[in-house]
Amino acid sequence: MQVLQNAPLAPLTTLRLGGPARRLVTATTDEEVVAAVREADAAGEPLLVLGGGSNLVIGDAGFDGTVLRIATRGFALDGTRLELAAGEVWADAVARTVEEGLAGIEFLAGIPGSAGATPVQNVGAYGQEVAETVTEVVAYDRRAGETVTLANAECDFSYRHSRFKADPHRYVVLRVRFALEDAAGQSSPVKYAEVARTLGVEAGERVDLATAADTVLKLRAGKGMVLDPEDHDTWSAGSFFTNPVLTAEQYAAFAARLDGLTAPAFPAPEGCTKTSAAWLIDKAGFTKGYGTGPATLSTKHTLALTNRGSATTEDLLALAREVRDGVRAAFGVELVNEPVMVGVAL
Ligand SMILES: Cc1cc2nc3c(=O)[nH]c(=O)nc-3n(C[C@H](O)[C@H](O)[C@H](O)COP(=O)(O)OP(=O)(O)OC[C@H]3O[C@@H](n4cnc5c(N)ncnc54)[C@H](O)[C@@H]3O)c2cc1C
Repeated sequence: MQVLQNAPLAPLTTLRLGGPARRLVTATTDEEVVAAVREADAAGEPLLVLGGGSNLVIGDAGFDGTVLRIATRGFALDGTRLELAAGEVWADAVARTVEEGLAGIEFLAGIPGSAGATPVQNVGAYGQEVAETVTEVVAYDRRAGETVTLANAECDFSYRHSRFKADPHRYVVLRVRFALEDAAGQSSPVKYAEVARTLGVEAGERVDLATAADTVLKLRAGKGMVLDPEDHDTWSAGSFFTNPVLTAEQYAAFAARLDGLTAPAFPAPEGCTKTSAAWLIDKAGFTKGYGTGPATLSTKHTLALTNRGSATTEDLLALAREVRDGVRAAFGVELVNEPVMVGVAL
């Protein structure tokens, strides 16, 4: 277990933003993770769990407590059953399952961050989300002071949400178990229209597994959604806002303000409608590359707020507030941030 005092956090985040941690602990085994959490909890010390730092906005003042960096490793495949240690690099694990000919997480190729963070916001993209394949999450329960195994149904997964996100200080994920599918080298059925179009197939068809993952990687790269240290469009936390899910009443009020425009609309649970945050941002006048300061919208995707190299967290938040307020003024829809805020708020 490595312990550093007053350690910079910005290099550990994909936004390259945020002040230092008073204490930075790097744990490489589950036992070290649990010991570090127990120690911080016993001392009443604030604790921030850090994976790949790809979904975090850390304030310029940093974190006055212990940041626990999860650096555990473990990729164990037994037939179609996969167990990943929380610190495994997610994109590498996906690539390995594709090499092994297993379907189930191939459309989540190229998503940055750690395996342990994937259940936290029920990571999803291109018509797939981890809730579809996660069977169990092994986590240290800080309230009970013991390691627990939660079945999928106990994780309360929904769109970019879970029990772990709802109760952020309770669980530290140690291991994630998945049930994948051996579809004889074929992918899961294609669900996402853009992927189906690119592959020249109908939604619901299966395609070659490696082709499915490659197609997603190319689509993501075109939107600056695959990490590239040379490309400031990827110095982001991915999508900065979640897609708004509107009740029937909210949707009717929104539709009344569209003034001849046709907004994307997808059915969501409980009679709700999901629309597109990227579309709202663009139509509210914040087009790709918007901004003149050190934080701007990505030149490839309106939904990514980026650090052009010299931004502070306050610069990024000023841009985020401008976009959120502009969308509210134009459409009456409230955008909600997807990344986790540490020591700051929108
Ligand atoms: C370029 C880019 C593209 C992206 N594309 C997508 C996408 O397509 N779909 C998507 O869903 N997300 C996407 N994201 C967001 C991000 O990659 C995911 O949310 C990812 O799962 C975060 O993992 P992480 O390890 O970096 O988490 P971190 O940023 O380190 O942490 C995020 C949150 O999870 C908590 N956490 C981390 N590890 C654990 C653990 N072991 N136990 C308990 N809590 C933990 C942290 O405390 C924090 O609250 C993208 C991000 C970037 C930068």
